[in-house]
Amino acid sequence: MSKTPDVRLYVFDGGRIKIDPDFNFSLFGITEGDHIDLEMAQPCFMVEHPNGRLLWEGGHPSSMADTPGWVRVDHGMERRLDRTVPSQLAELKLDMGSFDYVAFSHLHWDHAGLAKEIMRGTLIMQQIEYDLIVTDSKPKGHEKLYVGDMRSETKSLKKLLINGDHDVFGDGRVRLISAPGHVPGHQVLFVDLADYGPVVIGADLYHFRVTREKHLIPSVSADMVQVKESMDRVEQLLSETGGRLWIHHDPQLFSELKKAPAYYQ
Ligand SMILES: [Zn+2]
Ligand SMILES: [Zn+2]
Repeated sequence: MSKTPDVRLYVFDGGRIKIDPDFNFSLFGITEGDHIDLEMAQPCFMVEHPNGRLLWEGGHPSSMADTPGWVRVDHGMERRLDRTVPSQLAELKLDMGSFDYVAFSHLHWDHAGLAKEIMRGTLIMQQIEYDLIVTDSKPKGHEKLYVGDMRSETKSLKKLLINGDHDVFGDGRVRLISAPGHVPGHQVLFVDLADYGPVVIGADLYHFRVTREKHLIPSVSADMVQVKESMDRVEQLLSETGGRLWIHHDPQLFSELKKAPAYYQ
C-alpha cells in the first residue's frame, strides 16, 4: 500500500562547528589517513505531520548570531551562527511557539542550544537523560558538553519521559529510536516519508562518514559497548526498511540537502 505524502521534513541551518586541527581525534577512533571535515554542520529539523509538528534537535542559541564569525568554545572548537532558526521559521510563517512536540537527541550544547527559546509544546526525552539533569551527574568527560540547567531552560514545556523507542504520532511514520552509548539517553529520529523513503537522522551515533565506514567506536562515548549495540540496531532498522541515514554533522550531506522552506515528503 502506498503512503499518502502527508508527512513533510524540513531542514534548517542551526549553525556550524569548527574543530581545531590539533584536537585529539583518537578520542573518536580516528587515525592518520582517515578523512574528516574539520568544519561540521549543525542542522535542526522539523517534521510536519497531519496530527502535529515536531522540532528535532536545536542547534546554537539565536543570540549567537549577534556575534559575527567564529566564536571560541573552551574544548578545542569554535562555533558560529549566521542565520537563526526563528528567522528560517518566519519564512514558513511559524515561530518558536509553533511546535506540538520537541525532541533533542541528547542534551549536548550542539543539539539542544535552542531549548530556552521554545515557547510551548511537549518535550519528549529519554527518562535516563532527564535524570542526569535532575541529579546533575553527567557522564565522565562530558561535563562541559551539556547545556546549562535544563530544568529552567525548558520550564515552559510539558515533559514526556520515555524509556526506549517512541512512536510520536502513533502511526509509525515518526519514531524516536533509543540509541544509547554516546550518552545514556541518546536517541535518533526515524521518519517514514512517502516519496523520499524512510530516513534516520542519526544525531551523534556517527560523527563522521569514516566512523560508519570503518565501524569506529569513539572512546569518548559514555558506554562503548552500548554504542556498538546502537549502531547495529540502527543499521538493522535501515536495512529492514531500505532507509537512508543522514549523519547529523556531515557538512557534505548538509550542503546537498534541500533547506526550508523547501521540504522532503
Ligand atoms: Zn553529543
Ligand atoms: Zn553532536
